[in-house]
Amino acid sequence: MIYDTLIIGAGAAGLAAARELQAAGQSICVLEARNRVGGRIVTDRTYGPVELGAEFVHGDRACTWEEIRAAGLRTRPWGSKRRFARGGRLLPPDDPIIARTYTLYELANTYTGPEISVADLLAGHAAPGDPALGFALRWLANLEAADPAHLSATALARERADSHNGVGNFHLLDGYDCLTTHMAVGVPVRLNTPVARLIWRPGSVVARMARGEVLEARRALITVPAGVLRAGRPAFNPPLPADRLAALGAIGVGHVTKLVLWFERRLWPEFTVLSTDGQIATWWPVPGARTPTLMGYVGGPAALRLANHSESGAIAIGLAELTMLFGDAVRSACLGGRLADWSRDPWSLGAYTYSPVGMGDARAILAAPLAATLYFAGEATVTGGHIATVHGAIESGRRAAAAILADGPIPTNF
Ligand SMILES: Cc1cc2nc3c(=O)[nH]c(=O)nc-3n(C[C@H](O)[C@H](O)[C@H](O)COP(=O)(O)OP(=O)(O)OC[C@H]3O[C@@H](n4cnc5c(N)ncnc54)[C@H](O)[C@@H]3O)c2cc1C
Repeated sequence: MIYDTLIIGAGAAGLAAARELQAAGQSICVLEARNRVGGRIVTDRTYGPVELGAEFVHGDRACTWEEIRAAGLRTRPWGSKRRFARGGRLLPPDDPIIARTYTLYELANTYTGPEISVADLLAGHAAPGDPALGFALRWLANLEAADPAHLSATALARERADSHNGVGNFHLLDGYDCLTTHMAVGVPVRLNTPVARLIWRPGSVVARMARGEVLEARRALITVPAGVLRAGRPAFNPPLPADRLAALGAIGVGHVTKLVLWFERRLWPEFTVLSTDGQIATWWPVPGARTPTLMGYVGGPAALRLANHSESGAIAIGLAELTMLFGDAVRSACLGGRLADWSRDPWSLGAYTYSPVGMGDARAILAAPLAATLYFAGEATVTGGHIATVHGAIESGRRAAAAILADGPIPTNF
């Protein structure tokens, strides 16, 4: 059989595209390397749902809500009570360091001048060693999964201005994976099917799997993460054009390591999120879990440093830092933990993309179809404000599906 379209990757982008193409009457097949759908959405249920990958729906107008409503999932708004801790002690809410941290953070989010890195921008507004500078840089490194020395303040502020996903952050109480499981209902997905090579010419694609199996289609939609694409999985024959490879190299592949710790009782005061100057830059309580649970979140270069430890080593670091903050009882009350290292995950090779200084139009170049035969989607190909998110990935899948349908039948003399 020759399919109309093969979709590589069953994450949010691939599944969103699959549904659109199927609804338009196309014959499709989704090829997924992992033994599950969802990609960077994965839920641990050891003590109730806890997210190892994407956790929040960002914004009350994100397109993800259409899928949430269709799946009938329960959500809960996240709070906004951010606390700060320094040297193992909570700062009082009126500590002047906190106000300065917010000022610096906002400066990076609203910058409109010539291209500059976030680190260089903020260095011009705070003394070297200012704890507020440290907090602001760590906050941005965490959110953007990036080294602030490379992260473009210009691109960051433009992405903030371009986003139209509304306000607030929301947890999916049943687990984020219920969303992608629902999106996959009725979609033909082949699990455990890594695509090793795409042999293509205009109007024809042959996908060769790692195990040697071959599938054929008129078109392919590639949604694999930027880090995996850079690693040559799949390989392209003929290779992708030089401008596209350059674009792929110009997009920043960011790093996040998550550390989940479960406790038999709550030993911390009420907060939504806690920013620290420790190795675990951020902690937050997880609402849907059956037992008190803290999520440790580390982004940028610090994520790689934490992931260099074994899981038990990272848990020991987390417990040592929490003991300083909340007392010795933390250790005995801990039921266990789990480390999620996205940078060593072979089908992710990074957490999500960021926009480095000098990235230019790389995302648009990567997103452009090739000879009306190869199409690209996924969070790295998002050109507006919704990069690095689930709703951005869904939008990119819908955009690619619309392009495939608009291109119609491929002319035989192409
Ligand atoms: C730790 C972490 C926290 C995050 N937090 C949030 C959050 O709170 N809110 C939010 O909106 N977003 C968040 N994100 C980002 C969000 O998860 C991603 O932007 C989104 O899920 C990406 O979807 P995608 O379809 O582009 O890619 P993916 O979900 O990565 O899907 C791509 C699929 O391709 C498969 N694949 C790769 N190579 C091959 C191959 N050669 N052959 C076949 N299949 C292949 C992969 O296995 C994967 O299933 C987070 C991400 C991480 C890692």
